[in-house]
Amino acid sequence: PEVPAPRAIRELPDELVSQIAAGEVVERPASVVRELVDNALDAGARNIQVKLMAGGVRAIVVEDDGCGIPVAQLPLALKRHATSKIASLNDLESVATMGFRGEALAAISSVSDMAIASRTGADAHAHRLDARSGELQPAARGRGTSVEVRELFFSTPARRKFLKTDATELAHCVEAVRRHALARPDVGFAIWHEGKLVDQWRAASSEQRIADVLGEDFSAESRPFEYSAGPLALSGRAGLPEAARSRADQQYVWVNGRYVRDKLISHAIRSAYEDVLHGQRQPSYVLFIEIAPELVDVNVHPTKIEVRFRDGRAIHQSVRRAFIDALAQSRADAAAVESA
Ligand code: ADP
Ligand code: MG
Repeated sequence: PEVPAPRAIRELPDELVSQIAAGEVVERPASVVRELVDNALDAGARNIQVKLMAGGVRAIVVEDDGCGIPVAQLPLALKRHATSKIASLNDLESVATMGFRGEALAAISSVSDMAIASRTGADAHAHRLDARSGELQPAARGRGTSVEVRELFFSTPARRKFLKTDATELAHCVEAVRRHALARPDVGFAIWHEGKLVDQWRAASSEQRIADVLGEDFSAESRPFEYSAGPLALSGRAGLPEAARSRADQQYVWVNGRYVRDKLISHAIRSAYEDVLHGQRQPSYVLFIEIAPELVDVNVHPTKIEVRFRDGRAIHQSVRRAFIDALAQSRADAAAVESA
């Protein structure tokens, strides 16, 4: 066969670069919700409102009462690789914020109609920047930030076709907020859809928040645990084997407040249930892992849902031990009740 003639190499226009990059970060409305709530938490918000239209496809508005963005910096917030959260590689190694790439707002704005309104404690009023037109206007709101994302993927129809029904997209958005809500019981959350309140969680203790989000049944059918080993602190609730489910839909793990999916950790937990769970039954659990930031690399996945541990074996052992102890303790408690 003929070898094709070489084709000219071109630099892609910025807009296209952003749209391609957005493909990694923004998969569906729930990805936008996650990024915007991450930002609100990084800004120190005490209350976060998430307002959706048509499952988030028509509109996602996230309002917070955090520190706000100085008006002079508003345009920068929308630029790629612009962030207030790290300044050096050193910072990246000890990063304590949810964000650090400076990509989310740029990515989202390249595949939607975005506006951002913000007011800092020092501002007399808020300012609203329309990402598309670049127009900056005075706006009314208290301290904090509102990000409005409308018509997601309107300019990328190929992407839009992958969206499911509004009901399914809404369920994913709600799930994204639940993950944040479980990890941050000190913050109040409310989710609205089409003007109606879907769910609301007021600031509470961690125990109360878990019951509020996952239900009293989950709390009744799980055992709390705490476990620490060197630089590692684990806490959470281990679901009782009797309450195992046919689906793995109540398995939550966070590393330093960031929700993650990690094969090593789920394997460790699964192995703790080895003797008490059979077949395809799925345990329910919440697990909060706190670890020194330099022992975990959070910069391995564009959406940061995967992390890499410096010492995976130690994590595996500790997680397994924490769950085995919790399950043994719950059996001991049950036996004590029976013999009393
Ligand atoms: P990153 O979170 O990785 O820094 P983003 O694109 O999500 O990148 O946000 C860019 C910058 O905009 C942030 O670093 C922050 O300074 C500012 N910002 C975004 N959202 C908010 C918010 N809700 N409150 C205050 N500042 C915000
Ligand atoms: Mg961010």
